[in-house]
Amino acid sequence: MTNKALNVRKQEKEAPLLCRCDVAVAGGGVAGIAAALAAARQGADVALLEKQCVLGGLATSGLVTVYLPLCDGRGNQVSYGLAEELFHLSVRYGAQRKYPKAWLEGGTKEERIAKRYEVQFNPVYFQLLAERLLKEAGVRIFYDTLVSQAVLEIGTGEKAFGPAEVSREVSSAEKRIKELIVETAEGRGAVRAKSYVDATGDARVFRAAGAPVQRYEKGNILAAWYYGVSGGRLMLRQLGTVEESDCMSKERHTDKPLSSRRFGGMSWEDNSQFLQLAHEQMLLDMEARRREDKDFEAALIPGMAQFRMICRIEGKASLRQKDRECYLEESIGMAADWRRRGYVYEIPFGCLCASGFPNIFAAGRIISSDEEMWEVSRVIPACAVTGEAAGIGAALHSQRGQVDLQQLQDCLREQKQILHFREI
Ligand SMILES: Cc1cc2nc3c(=O)[nH]c(=O)nc-3n(C[C@H](O)[C@H](O)[C@H](O)COP(=O)(O)OP(=O)(O)OC[C@H]3O[C@@H](n4cnc5c(N)ncnc54)[C@H](O)[C@@H]3O)c2cc1C
Repeated sequence: MTNKALNVRKQEKEAPLLCRCDVAVAGGGVAGIAAALAAARQGADVALLEKQCVLGGLATSGLVTVYLPLCDGRGNQVSYGLAEELFHLSVRYGAQRKYPKAWLEGGTKEERIAKRYEVQFNPVYFQLLAERLLKEAGVRIFYDTLVSQAVLEIGTGEKAFGPAEVSREVSSAEKRIKELIVETAEGRGAVRAKSYVDATGDARVFRAAGAPVQRYEKGNILAAWYYGVSGGRLMLRQLGTVEESDCMSKERHTDKPLSSRRFGGMSWEDNSQFLQLAHEQMLLDMEARRREDKDFEAALIPGMAQFRMICRIEGKASLRQKDRECYLEESIGMAADWRRRGYVYEIPFGCLCASGFPNIFAAGRIISSDEEMWEVSRVIPACAVTGEAAGIGAALHSQRGQVDLQQLQDCLREQKQILHFREI
């Protein structure tokens, strides 16, 4: 038996095939939910692989429950399609705060300028409603399933495991993901799809495949958002709000950093330290609240580390600050800068694709962007827009072995996405 055949036998024994499907989506945050739903609506057989036991990622388990604006701050909606559908889903049983009446019940342009199309939602309803929606669309959800490695087919069909061998031996060949290796309650297994979406929030699949990525070198500030309850009302305590920047408008609240330390979010040590420092800050705040308010009770703490940026791909194209309001032929939808009014960007499909990796698409906070635009691409509406496009792209790829941009854009338009600023 050849070495290659032996390797295949060994891998099959160590990682038995758990599932075959058209599209496998790694990560069930907002981007993964949108990707899985969009792919299933194109008729693909979809598996969604999520390491936690609930959906929503940072937006629910991370208690980041502010759905930032779908509008440009000048009274125009810019993000549509699943970004809007998931917005509505998040407030099906009512908004917690910031109810955008002028947008949801009809209002004048002036009212829509005064109050942007954003909301604070209840994370528990969103988690459960998203799960129901995906099941109704036929998506198979694999909870408690961690994607750990990618098995590649390279050029002529040769296989390699993990990034090290790939970058050393065959860096120029086209690499197709053949399977994802997952860790489950039964041990190690494999999920085989025709195409894949990486919606892990830290580009885990692209990194495992050896694709080029950019880490967040500056590092994240400490964040410790949690929920308390008082007088029967849930309150989101936002400790560690976003950093002040030149383009931040006055209406966005910021406060002093909780710590001078910064965190990249890509080492076990960093993550453990971040979580413990965040927990300590939460406890201190709870103790202070209890002293001030005898009704106060702690309600929920986050189930994942609140890193804003970790890692993004180096794509065929990037979201660039200088493309503000520019017409981009490749656009798959738009996102507004939540920090300031009147800044809108078309997102080119190339932000979701890495050269040489034809059957994997990026979604959410890992898409390719320049450093400044990461602040725009990482927030919930943009994650839903890119998730939807990645899901449709993966479904089309699974059917035809390639993505025709025109067809992708037609599908997005059918789903009511608006692609260009001039179409508003
Ligand atoms: C402190 C803070 C405040 C923020 N404030 C706002 C705000 O006010 N409004 C706003 O719109 N956005 C805000 N954001 C940003 C926004 O919440 C997130 O960037 C967005 O929700 C990311 O969505 P995502 O789906 O790309 O990634 P994630 O939400 O990170 O989802 C990734 C999912 O993949 C899963 N996963 C990861 N690795 C694996 C693996 N190996 N195998 C299987 N599953 C895996 C994770 O469990 C998770 O469910 C904030 C973020 C932070 C940290």
